[in-house]
Amino acid sequence: MEEQGRKGKRVLFFPLPLQGHITPMLQLANILHLNGFSITIILADNFNTTFNTIRANYPHFTFHTISDGLSEDDKAKTDVDALFLLSLFNEKCAPHFTEALRQLVLEDPNIVCLISDSILHFTKAVADSLNLHRLVLRTGGVSSCLAYAAIPLLQNKAYFPIQGIESQLEEAVEELPPLRIKDLPIFKTYNVDALYQVIQGMIRETKASSGLIINSFEQLEQFSMSKLRDDFSIPIFPIGPFHSHFPASSSSLMSQDQTSISWLDTKTPKSVIYVSFGSLAAIEINEFLEIAWGLANRNHPFLWVVRPGLIRGSEWIELLPNEFLETVDGRGHIVKWAPQQQVLAHLAVGAFWTHNGWNSTLESICEGVPMICMPCFGDQMVNARYVSHVWKVGVQLENGLKRMNIENAIRTLMEEEEGKQIKERMLELKEKANSCLKPGGSSYESLRSLTSYISSF
Ligand code: UDP
Repeated sequence: MEEQGRKGKRVLFFPLPLQGHITPMLQLANILHLNGFSITIILADNFNTTFNTIRANYPHFTFHTISDGLSEDDKAKTDVDALFLLSLFNEKCAPHFTEALRQLVLEDPNIVCLISDSILHFTKAVADSLNLHRLVLRTGGVSSCLAYAAIPLLQNKAYFPIQGIESQLEEAVEELPPLRIKDLPIFKTYNVDALYQVIQGMIRETKASSGLIINSFEQLEQFSMSKLRDDFSIPIFPIGPFHSHFPASSSSLMSQDQTSISWLDTKTPKSVIYVSFGSLAAIEINEFLEIAWGLANRNHPFLWVVRPGLIRGSEWIELLPNEFLETVDGRGHIVKWAPQQQVLAHLAVGAFWTHNGWNSTLESICEGVPMICMPCFGDQMVNARYVSHVWKVGVQLENGLKRMNIENAIRTLMEEEEGKQIKERMLELKEKANSCLKPGGSSYESLRSLTSYISSF
């Protein structure tokens, strides 16, 4: 009966065209498609080719391409400062999106709502002008969302900017337990004020939306979830983890090196450290070399994703000294981009050294792989704190990216009693992640509420 009510109803999706955002949005679209809705994805793709693989992988969706409005000059800026894209996109894409949405709504009376990435806050006014329901997808976690919502308060209390209070980094932030000052969501971007405005816009227009869909689950962020419900008086649907429904490989923007898997096949169970810092983080040359020697100096095999663009001032791995390559010959495998979910699910993987992007964090939890946390900016700081100090399923690399600290973290996780306990807790958390998706589980039930809610539009 309910399925019948959805027949023909079409949901529009508008993702932010970045890897960590487009993947959960397409997964959500897939989940709703399985629940009987028709799907249109609005893709900001200037060249009409960037997302060709994605289009091919989702033949059951309709794609509508628009310009992102960015000039060559804008693109050059975002190449060096990826975070600048967020404010630029909200400004420059708005007229193109407005035109597209108007046209789509005019042509198809079956469109019932828009689901927009929460960062794309300008979509609120556009949807309102067309009397269209707008839900938002938060692709990150709940605890980091609360930290973002607290930014104006933290600014008033002089926690921001962090520069100038370096001596207090270890101190607790009373307003946001269990965060310390060093766990606050800082950003390395040349226009940090513009970014904070985007975040404020995101919070404001999420609170004014018809509902918030979150890629998280109750048992993971229980305390934060209840605080969120107090602060945001809109329907909230924590229906994650999404990728347990679908593999992320179908939405990868870069080609995934399958030698990662054949190489892992040659290694013993739980022996390999998988190292990847996601699609945006960047490190300095000296940090890159410290990572290399930290890995070389402990005797564990490692699979290392060195994304072109990861190292500021270097193309790829040409700076690795011969002495390093000789030391790790056969023990280390370096690729440009890996099939991460498959890697984490591989029996040979024993630990994940991660930047704690939310997708990576959830993928690691779902596969029960303990983490070495090395957050770089924004929500990653908050996620890492939860991994290491709340769920206690990883260790955080503190006190700088030095080979000694790296060796200590690897030793703790792979060789010591503390590491064993961390692994046990991780398996318990993995079990919770799996059971919330089963009938009667919190995410399962929340998804049922979401589909009935959208059907009622
Ligand atoms: N990923 C991948 N191959 C890699 C590294 C990452 O497929 O070599 C995927 C990973 O599975 C995740 C996404 O890229 O789904 C990264 O998202 P996350 O939120 O972790 O970090 P971001 O890239 O947004 O910083």
